[in-house]
Amino acid sequence: MSINRTAGACGQPGRGHKATAADRAWLAVACELAAQCPPSTTAFSVGAVIVAIDGTELARSYSRENDPHDHAEEGALVKIPDDDPRLANATIYSSLEPCAKRASRPRPCAQLIRDAGIHRVVTAWREPDTFVLGADGTEFLEKAGVPVIELPEYADAAKLPNQHLLKQNVDGDS
Ligand SMILES: [Zn+2]
Repeated sequence: MSINRTAGACGQPGRGHKATAADRAWLAVACELAAQCPPSTTAFSVGAVIVAIDGTELARSYSRENDPHDHAEEGALVKIPDDDPRLANATIYSSLEPCAKRASRPRPCAQLIRDAGIHRVVTAWREPDTFVLGADGTEFLEKAGVPVIELPEYADAAKLPNQHLLKQNVDGDS
């Protein structure tokens, strides 16, 4: 499967708000990871990859990889030591905008990303109000000085494992 790319296979992330071909390729990997999530009726399926400035893949994860409450971004972050100097120039690719509010754990992913020092976020899709109203992780991150680049041409791929959630509004733990 194309998901088993070797480190650096997609190239070096872009800079700032400018998206490059490598950014698109890494976001496609994140969308493929979203399809691996254990199904849920109460949370989105999301994939995330963290890539160093030189194109080295640092970590990847997907929603509920190890625990029913795991979000993709935190699952990837937890695999990297806090003091890894590559985090400071890293880009995180997430198929869905990082969450700004959540019920299940105290720190939402947008805050975890800022606290980790990651300097750039690329995403395919803004979080709808299915589980959390006004889940505006993009605004939180931009205010914290972390550019968030949205590539809507990947929104369909990001939504694919979430079709069952988008047809109805369900109450649940996000
Ligand atoms: Zn999250």
